Amino acid sequence: MNNVVSLFENPLKDEERPVVLLADDDPSIRLMIRHVLESEDYDIIEAEDGLDAIKAVEKQHPALILLDAVMPGLDGFATCQQIKDRGHTDIPVIMITGLDDDASVERAYDVGAIDYITKPIKWAVLKHRVRSVVKRVMAERKILRLEYRDTLTQLPNRLLFIDRLEQAIVRAERHRETIALMVVDIDDFKLVNDSFGHEAGDKLIKAVAELLSKSMRRADTVARLGGDEFAIIIENVDGVDDAISIAGNLTTVLEHNVRLDNQETHTSASVGIAMYPDDGSNASTLLKNADTAMFRAKEQGRRCFQFYKAEMSVNAMERLELENSIRQAIENGELVIHYQPTIDVHNNEIAGVEALLRWQHPEKGIIAPDDFLQVAIESGLIVPIGEWMINTICHQLRVWKDAGMENQNISINLTAKQFKDQDLISLFKIAMNEHQIEGSELNIEVTEKSLISSEGEIEATLNKFHDMGMTITIDDFGIGFASLTNLKDLPIDVVKIDGAFIAGVPDNEHDVAVVNAIAGLTRGLKMKLLAEGIENERQLEMLKGLGCQYAQGFYWSKALPPHQYEQFYLNRFYNLG
Ligand code: GH3
Ligand code: MG
Repeated sequence: MNNVVSLFENPLKDEERPVVLLADDDPSIRLMIRHVLESEDYDIIEAEDGLDAIKAVEKQHPALILLDAVMPGLDGFATCQQIKDRGHTDIPVIMITGLDDDASVERAYDVGAIDYITKPIKWAVLKHRVRSVVKRVMAERKILRLEYRDTLTQLPNRLLFIDRLEQAIVRAERHRETIALMVVDIDDFKLVNDSFGHEAGDKLIKAVAELLSKSMRRADTVARLGGDEFAIIIENVDGVDDAISIAGNLTTVLEHNVRLDNQETHTSASVGIAMYPDDGSNASTLLKNADTAMFRAKEQGRRCFQFYKAEMSVNAMERLELENSIRQAIENGELVIHYQPTIDVHNNEIAGVEALLRWQHPEKGIIAPDDFLQVAIESGLIVPIGEWMINTICHQLRVWKDAGMENQNISINLTAKQFKDQDLISLFKIAMNEHQIEGSELNIEVTEKSLISSEGEIEATLNKFHDMGMTITIDDFGIGFASLTNLKDLPIDVVKIDGAFIAGVPDNEHDVAVVNAIAGLTRGLKMKLLAEGIENERQLEMLKGLGCQYAQGFYWSKALPPHQYEQFYLNRFYNLG
């Protein structure tokens, strides 16, 4: 691009001449009014019906509308109503008509007119009323301009921009339309300031303001957010493709050689785009995201545009791929359960096992649930997974019992989503019945976090589990900020302290204090304490000292596939024996 723009060919207006709109189907009345107002310094525009009047308002934003009440098609009342509905509540309307009955007067005020003049018109009265209203409106607009306009470019400033964006969002929401928000930042603007001086920099900012305003539709808002940063609201965009062509055009338009004080300098800009509603539902989020995208455009080497969406859609794609893989994993039987023993530290015997979900991926090997559980929960796949787990552990328990392995209590983790979406009680009853399992052979683990957020939903089901003879463990305790006393009414048998605290024991004073406090409260509430993540003798000794009854950890064993666990059990059994 090698266009050269000379500056100030078409400077943006500082002061505006007031525009007065005359809407009347009778040309002779329009002529008369025009004649009467001739001596005033107004731009007078005319409309011969309601629709014409609405179009003129949108285009010219008059300081006053003189509106005939009786017109063919859309009458004055309906026209006034539509003008106000379109958001032009700041433009005063004076209704002119031969109707002077009470109902008509009432109606005129109801639809938003500020005054009422009856025919035959008293011309001197009309002239003075118009003059005083226009004067007031122009004074108000000047104040607004000072508050809402950037003084250098006369473009809307950040304050007005946010207001316009909020209004655009309301309209887009109502009509289910898309908005593109573009943030434009001049590339290497500091160089212009440094090489040509601050004044030249100002001129460049004005030139860019002009280029942006000229290249956009009239209805689009172009604003200066500050420094060399501009923003544009493009309403009713026809999807991402439309936004791409607008942004492409914008970067081309901005690639100009600008003449500054007889010197030519090349300018370009980087553009960041955020779309409503996909990239944010409110003005501040959209602006933040468009800004992020703009910075990415800078990183990409400048003079280009970037969608905020690009990054988000990559995340969405990854998530979708993972969801599909989990689905396949369920179908292909790639999900397996590993079992981690829980030790009763008082007699050093196996007290039970915790069933832990693993994904035996054909290429990636064993995947821990941290990497896929969240997606499984959000997509609802946790429901079939949970059902499969309940069945599998009951079956496993049966197999072990038949093989003579005694006291194999199995612990299963349940998520809040499962309590919500599944009839867990029935699922357990069916599986337990099929494999002849007693309630006392099962333990339910539910995290402290799920309990806090469940608002009583989980509680009822836990009580039923308890009635069926199962024990209940509260998992990951200590990180969810629940107070144990709040949980005293729940049927909890065991409190499992989060491994993060055990990791710091016995050297980290803070962790020791937390563990101490939880141990004390657990004792007081006659619950049992389980410590997970025990890795060494020192941790074990300290927890034993605090009255901890159960423990898990690499000190004994990690979670094992069923046949390896059987080996662990037998070894232990014979060693002890
Ligand atoms: P980048 O390509 O990364 O955008 O770098 P840049 O040189 O354009 O720098 P940046 O956008 O980070 O900073 C804009 C500079 O504009 C900072 C400030 O010194 C200058 N500036 C801010 N407001 C004005 C102004 O009203 N007039 C002038 N002349 N300069 C301004
Ligand atoms: Mg810049």
